[in-house]
Order: sequence, then C-alpha cells, then structure tokens
Amino acid sequence: MEHSVAVIGAGLAGLQCALLLKEAGIDVHVFEREHHVGGRMKTEKVDGFLLDYGFHVMQTAYPTSQRVFDFEALNVQAFEPGAMIVQKKKNKAKFWRMADPFRRPIQGAMSGMNRFASPVDLLRVARLRFAVRKGKTEQVFEGENKDTLSYLKQQGFSQSIIDRFFHPLFTGIFLEDDLRTNERMFRFVFRMMSKGNMVLPREGIVAAPNQLAQRLGKDRIHLNSTVSFVDDTTLDINGQSKSFDAVVRAFNTNQSNEKRHVWTLHFDAEQSPLNSRHVLLNGDVKINDGLIAHLAVPSDVQPEYAPAGRSLVTVTVVGERADSLGLKEAAEIEEAVRNEVKLWFPDTSLNWRLLAVQHIEHALPEVGSERPLLATPQGHGFECGDQMLHGSVEGALLSAEAVANAVVVHLQV
Ligand SMILES: Cc1cc2nc3c(=O)[nH]c(=O)nc-3n(C[C@H](O)[C@H](O)[C@H](O)COP(=O)(O)OP(=O)(O)OC[C@H]3O[C@@H](n4cnc5c(N)ncnc54)[C@H](O)[C@@H]3O)c2cc1C
Repeated sequence: MEHSVAVIGAGLAGLQCALLLKEAGIDVHVFEREHHVGGRMKTEKVDGFLLDYGFHVMQTAYPTSQRVFDFEALNVQAFEPGAMIVQKKKNKAKFWRMADPFRRPIQGAMSGMNRFASPVDLLRVARLRFAVRKGKTEQVFEGENKDTLSYLKQQGFSQSIIDRFFHPLFTGIFLEDDLRTNERMFRFVFRMMSKGNMVLPREGIVAAPNQLAQRLGKDRIHLNSTVSFVDDTTLDINGQSKSFDAVVRAFNTNQSNEKRHVWTLHFDAEQSPLNSRHVLLNGDVKINDGLIAHLAVPSDVQPEYAPAGRSLVTVTVVGERADSLGLKEAAEIEEAVRNEVKLWFPDTSLNWRLLAVQHIEHALPEVGSERPLLATPQGHGFECGDQMLHGSVEGALLSAEAVANAVVVHLQV
C-alpha cells in the first residue's frame, strides 16, 4: 500500500523534501499556512517592480543548488564578482572598485583595495582563498569553530580591512553586527563566492521555490492551510482531522527565539546610482557609526526587476546595527538611510521614491542553534529547514534531503 506523508511548510526545505518523497513513490502532501510557496524566498510586485523579501541571491557554486535548480530555466544573471566600497573622505564619498578580491586579489589591489588593505592583507586574502577552495565543501565545516572576527584576526588581517571590507560584506550576509557567526560558515560563504556567482532569477527570487513547486505539482500543495497536531501522525487541517504514516515539520519549531533581523528598503530611482553590476559595501558602517551595510541595484543585473526606464535600488540595514543606533521605526530607518545615501549620491538620491520598507524578523537562525541534522522519529517526528544546519539555501536543501532519506528508511519503502 502507498505510504502517506504530510510535510508542513512550503519553504525551500519543505518543497525539496516533498519532491524527494514523491520520487520515492510516497503519497506526499504539503500544507502551507500562507497563500504562497517559498517561505522566506518570496517576491512581491509593486508598481511594476519585483521586490524580493530582503536582498536575496542564489549562489551558483552551492553544490546542492547545482543539483536541484535548473539555473538556465530560471534565466539567472550574475552580479560582478568583487565589490565596490564607499568611504567618507572630508565629507565627500569616495568609491573604490575592487576587481575581484577573491578570484583576482592582485588586480583587486590595483583597482582600489590598497586604500585600506595593506599588501600583506592582500596576500592573506589570496592565502585564505587557496585554503578554503581546497578539497570538498564538507571540509570547510571541519576543524576549528571560533567566531568569524577571531578567525580573521588569527589569519592576520589588519583592523582596516576587517572593518571596511569584511564587516559590511559579512554582517550583511550573516545578518548580525559583530561577526560572531562561526568561522566554518565564513569559510563556506567565502569558498562559494570564490567558486561561483551571485545570481538573480529573471522573475525574482521566488522563481527558485516556484521551480520546485512546479515539479511537485499543484495538487500536492495546499496553501492557506492552518495545521495543528492531534498526535504525532494525525493533523487537524483547517478543522478537519487527517492521519498520515509520517509528518515532517519543514519549519523552524524554535523560530520565535531567532533574533537576527534585517531592514530592507526598496527605492524607485530614475537611473542606477552605480556604473557597474557590483554590490556597494559601506566601508564606514563599523568605523563611522554608519547604518547601511550594503546597497545593490538588482535591475542592473535583471532588468525585469524594474519597469522600463527605471531602476530598483535595494538597501540592506542589519537589524542589530539599527538597534545599536536606537533606530526602531520604519520612518526613522528611512530618514537615516536617506541621510547616508545623500552623501554618496547627492545629485540623484533625493528623488528616490520609497517603494517599501521590509522589516524581516527571525530572518536567519542564530549561530549555535543548529540541531543534530536528523531529527529521529522519537516522539516528535521529523523536522527540516535551514535551522537544522545553517541559514542558507544550501542549509535548507541539505537538511531536506537528509530528512527525506530518514523518512524513507523509517517507512521502509
Ligand atoms: C532577508 C534574507 C536574505 C537571505 N539571503 C540569502 C542569500 O542571499 N543566500 C542564501 O543562501 N540564503 C539566504 N537567505 C536564507 C534563505 O532564505 C533560507 O535559508 C531559506 O529560504 C530557508 O528555507 P526553509 O524552507 O528552511 O524555511 P522557510 O522559508 O522559513 O519556510 C518555512 C515555511 O513553513 C511555513 N510554516 C511555518 N509554520 C507553519 C504551520 N504551522 N503550518 C503551515 N505552514 C507553516 C512558513 O509559512 C514557511 O512558508 C536569506 C534569508 C533572508 C530572510
């Protein structure tokens, strides 16, 4: 007889877990409380702009993403490797373009990094890059497990390159303000950046989970479903009781404890403020009490993100940064962001029209909150999602695969 499994949550992890169970011949159904699939990977259409939920990219080097996604069908386009850095000098903004500090550290030095990184720093970047690219991806998760800041110091980087480059880049990725995320995660992201590209799908970040949902089939996904547990295998779904052979919780059962939050502001601009497809890092965020971690122009990479003749500017403010400056309300954040970008782009930013301020609470799981990858069916069933491994698309997919395998073994399919 065909086994039946319920997956609760249609984020990336739930969809991937359900797909694998379907492929194993299981009658699987996904129940999602929202009216859309994708969970945190969602995109909203506002006045012809595609607004992702936070600045969100796919990494082409993620090994599981390479297996799972059809990047070509997603029509992905890449940001330029490397970054631009903005720094205040005598009340004026100075922009440094770094060719690619990861792939071409020496050229990167020539294109501007030497303003705040010594030649020794650049050699250390090259050495680090070599070290993290070696071997299999799993190996970066082995060995020491200090915080990222201690790791960078131990590697001998100067305070200047840490504050002006690593801090804005990695606090904007980890969504915390003191580089306390463990060095393993740092090594993982650094490796991925040096091996692949940061890309956006043509139809917004939600196109990624949509691709999985399409493979799974609409008839297996039940949106607007409020689910509660009667017992381990019996659910109350919108008031109706239904039993399954196994149930997977594809959401973070501890989410209210996850404190990493982020503010994302999307602006409609007459033209792009950047003249290349880089992400712009705020080199002052740590040193001069800055607020913005980074700014990007998704429509420079994927023109579909903005209507013809307009540009979409997306600004990322790490929640803890805003907290430390006493900024709690959307209007205060907008005002402070506008003051900061006015210095960077005095001629154009005054005309930027605010499209949305998103405050994303519980954005990523806390470091050290990861749990043993396999939730065994002892008492509380199965759980998957990025919280089980690490806060990333890769973490979500890998945990989904592990749990799907465990369910198959449990049911002895
Ligand atoms: C702003 C931001 C930027 C990010 N940027 C990147 C990036 O650039 N690169 C990267 O790799 N990762 C990034 N991430 C992380 C990535 O988005 C997540 O790791 C991934 O989407 C997690 O997927 P998930 O399925 O584990 O969880 P979720 O997406 O949270 O899915 C959980 C689902 O379960 C549903 N649910 C919860 N409770 C119930 C219930 N009781 N009944 C029914 N349904 C329920 C929720 O509605 C949700 O749809 C970013 C995250 C954020 C927030």
